[in-house]
Amino acid sequence: MAQFLTGHGENGRYLHKIGKREDESCVDCLLTDGKDHAVFECPRWYGERNEAFSKIGGVLTPDNIVQKMCQNETDWGIIQRFITLVIGTREREGRQ
Ligand SMILES: [Zn+2]
Repeated sequence: MAQFLTGHGENGRYLHKIGKREDESCVDCLLTDGKDHAVFECPRWYGERNEAFSKIGGVLTPDNIVQKMCQNETDWGIIQRFITLVIGTREREGRQ
C-alpha cells in the first residue's frame, strides 16, 4: 500500500529513475508505466480491476481512490486486496 501511495516501487518510471531499468515501459503491456498505471490502466489487470469496481459500486480513479477507501471497511478491504495483488505480483515477478 505504501508503494502504491508514494509511487516508489515496482513501476517502470520509478525503476528507470533509480537506474534499475533502461526505460519506463510496463513489463506487461509496454505502455508508459507510471505510478498509477498498473492499478488503473494496465490491461493485464482488467478482470481483477473490474471485479473490484463492481464490488464497490463505482470506478476508481487516482483522484477518488483514497476517498473510496475511507468510505467503509468493506470497500477498504476490497481496494487493499486488489492493490496488494497487483503490487505483490509485480514484486514477485520483478525478483525473478
Ligand atoms: Zn501495463
